[in-house]
Amino acid sequence: MMEIRKDYPCNPRNHQGRRVKPVRWLVIHYVGALGDARQNAWYYHNTPGIGASAHYFVGHTEDGADVWASVAEDCVASHCGRSDGRYRHPDCRNANSIGIEMCCHRDGAGKWYFDPETVDRTVELARDIMARHGIDAAHVLRHYDVTGKICPAPYVNDGAAWETFKKRLEGSEMTRQEVQALVDEAVRSAQPRVYTDMDEVPKWAQGLVRRAVETGIIRGDGAGRLHLTDDLLVTLQMMFNMADRPVTPERSV
Ligand SMILES: [Zn+2]
Repeated sequence: MMEIRKDYPCNPRNHQGRRVKPVRWLVIHYVGALGDARQNAWYYHNTPGIGASAHYFVGHTEDGADVWASVAEDCVASHCGRSDGRYRHPDCRNANSIGIEMCCHRDGAGKWYFDPETVDRTVELARDIMARHGIDAAHVLRHYDVTGKICPAPYVNDGAAWETFKKRLEGSEMTRQEVQALVDEAVRSAQPRVYTDMDEVPKWAQGLVRRAVETGIIRGDGAGRLHLTDDLLVTLQMMFNMADRPVTPERSV
């Protein structure tokens, strides 16, 4: 499961306290500066009275501390409000949304862009939030869609990149958590197989078993049943492989 760092919760003076309305929207931002996720979380933690805040900062650093929780999800952050009330979006507001800030870089030409790892982590976090709050991809917006602000710049300047990002939210891409759950379930439900008749023995092992029976290594239970397990088949194979290996003269030193 994705690690979410909580070392630097948002300073209470930067957010609006407990939410009353349910979460209906997820809003994506870019920080519009060069700091990483840890630095952003630390800044909002240590600097009261900024008048802005977000629930998460996502970035990419060598130490893997990529996702930082800032404002708690059950509190209202100041991430997509407009003091003049002139919204582009009819329903999405701070009060009914969660805001994710993506860390970014600027190329030589001054164009903002995201590390692919930052995008991956944001997809993972967004899907987790969507699952927990029952939000579909149609309810994931850019800050731009709410107020018209050029945010997140990489996804406002490149609408196709935004569509690609959204596709990843609704597609069949599994989160690490979902994959882990599947693997755990497979391991839990795996029963060791026992083969009682030659017909049941996997094809690859039938020759081995026949040979083991002929040489008397396997005698069954005296009632014609073999009771072979997969482990035993593998052991037989190793045993015969060793026996069949041509004897090489010992090397003299
Ligand atoms: Zn924004």
